[in-house]
Amino acid sequence: MSGNWNEADHPREPKGSSKGGQFTDVDTISGAAAAAAIPDYVTKELRKEWVRRLSGLDHEVAILIDPDTAGRIYEQEGQRGRVDFDVKQRRAANNKVLLHNHPYSNSPFSVEDVKFFLRFNLKEMWVIASDYIFKMKKMPEMMTYFEMDWNEFVFRKAILYDDAFSSIFDRRADSSYYLDQLKKSTAKIRAFKELSKNYGWDFEWIKKEDYRGE
Ligand SMILES: [Zn+2]
Repeated sequence: MSGNWNEADHPREPKGSSKGGQFTDVDTISGAAAAAAIPDYVTKELRKEWVRRLSGLDHEVAILIDPDTAGRIYEQEGQRGRVDFDVKQRRAANNKVLLHNHPYSNSPFSVEDVKFFLRFNLKEMWVIASDYIFKMKKMPEMMTYFEMDWNEFVFRKAILYDDAFSSIFDRRADSSYYLDQLKKSTAKIRAFKELSKNYGWDFEWIKKEDYRGE
């Protein structure tokens, strides 16, 4: 996922301005009243439905969800390795849950994903990978986008991956492509867990086959 966000191109509307943050779509099921009226088992089914929707695709798709109702605010089609958003879509992400898939991959969040998560103040970001569901959740004590040293972040992410890989596996290249991919994704998940502790957001992952809609 890529934002191509340039702060200078998008001056923010002051608080209370009628021009800011008004993007909604027609199929939103939103609001406290709707949330109160929707029983738990329905929202579970909706969450499972989004996971199904984002599984087995050959390109990226992103869905923005209202966390109170599990109702869809918008769905955006992307390409093989990215999905782009316009300004209104980015602003609408504030305090919402954004899901996207990583086709043919078990990698958790990319650097671009983390940047989007922090910059647009998501409540949660989910990645639907081939065999896993990954979740990042906003925590009160985590660093903000503007407090982050992004060069250091990229460096630390790479170092943690190397450390995780060499602590779990020996360095021999594996003869099996499948095993090689499995080793890499295992190390990536472990590295992202360490990274999450460093920066203060919550990170969870679950095997898709074990997912029950929570
Ligand atoms: Zn991504």
